[in-house]
Amino acid sequence: MTKVVKFGGSSLASAEQFMKVGDIIRSDAERKLVVPSAPGKRDSKDTKVTDMLYACYAAAEAGEDFKAQLKAIKARYEEIIKGLHLDLSLEEEFKVIEKQFKEKAGDNYAASRGEYLNGIIMAAYLGYEFVDAATVIFFNDDGEFDTEKTKKTLSERLKKTERAVIPGFYGAYEDGRVKTFSRGGSDITGSIVAGAVKADVYENWTDVSGFLVADPRIIDTPPGIDTITYRELRELSYMGATVLHEDAIFPVRKEGIPINIRNTNSPLDEGTWIVESTCQKSKYVITGIAGKKGFCAVNIEKDMMNSEIGFGRKVLQSFEDNGISFEHVPSGIDTMTVFVHQDEFMDKEQKVVSSLHRLADPDMVDIESDLALIAVVGRGMKSTRGTAGRIFSALAHANVNVRMIDQGSSELNIIIGVSDEDFESAIRAIYNIFVEVQL
Ligand code: ASP
Repeated sequence: MTKVVKFGGSSLASAEQFMKVGDIIRSDAERKLVVPSAPGKRDSKDTKVTDMLYACYAAAEAGEDFKAQLKAIKARYEEIIKGLHLDLSLEEEFKVIEKQFKEKAGDNYAASRGEYLNGIIMAAYLGYEFVDAATVIFFNDDGEFDTEKTKKTLSERLKKTERAVIPGFYGAYEDGRVKTFSRGGSDITGSIVAGAVKADVYENWTDVSGFLVADPRIIDTPPGIDTITYRELRELSYMGATVLHEDAIFPVRKEGIPINIRNTNSPLDEGTWIVESTCQKSKYVITGIAGKKGFCAVNIEKDMMNSEIGFGRKVLQSFEDNGISFEHVPSGIDTMTVFVHQDEFMDKEQKVVSSLHRLADPDMVDIESDLALIAVVGRGMKSTRGTAGRIFSALAHANVNVRMIDQGSSELNIIIGVSDEDFESAIRAIYNIFVEVQL
């Protein structure tokens, strides 16, 4: 059995946190491949090393003196090394980094040093081999992740070693230049490593015990989710859950490997299991509720729209031509509504409206702003009668006006549109009816 274990920045922010991680890894011999992030915040006022690196490199690129900033970064690592009583010096590494910064090696290189150096420390601390991600994770010339080359190189490289540390967040182009994933990308590295070695599980250790049924900023101490399917998570995550990078799902999902989200500060908690499919019932009819404010609804009306072939395509083309992605497209007989992110849409709205008139010739276009979308998600909804009824009566009791309803054809989710100001009360009303009453 092989477990790939990824630790987030807060799990590795200090020597104390490193020790907790060491205990977790040593307590299970199957935890053989370790993917660390860069040191994160030690407290709420602290700065992540990745952010320090970006700022330091920006100074270097502007031709300013960046020595003091680099020294502060070095101090973060030295504090960890000292606290762990390691016989390790990063002196030479920092000389190389300073030189590379002077030569303007790029902000991707700069940011990647956060995980690179933390990986060296982690490997020394555990007595595992260090495998530089730039030698096993690849991007093609267009900057796209090169799945095939990475899989081949990584699986062959890891056959040669039983226990290794592979830093997260970056890889390299064909020519060796370093490239990072988007922010939070160590999650992706962990998933790629797990997929390449066909691990039994991908454990993603962070500072919360998995996903919660609802946002704790709106609901007081909501319960955790034990098991969630990949599809349910997608329905919830695109609405704003931030525990796991959304691109981290694909590499393991493809190999049928489950992800277990765990808490470094509470290692006995089971956390959340993310799986392809399960016969485990969720505790409540719904698995979770998530939502987001700041949407616009573009209502398009045209007599006899329902019989006009190609109308929908022309409408959507107006959005595509302006580089705007849509969230939902509920429709009626003579109406079609396109939900878009307000901040993306605002600057381009008049262009879209004129394009709609040009391409689709509607009778009327009307824009509504400041709407929130709420996704109520659960694999249990399919087999339970009355879920929609309960949601809408709860919302009515809470005096929330429902502006839009959309049920995905998979019966996995119901999307509800309300005005931004009703967002919190709508979430509370739905939570109360499904979760609170059963607690
Ligand atoms: N250190 C990187 C970031 O702050 C990547 C990660 O932590 O996953 O975004």
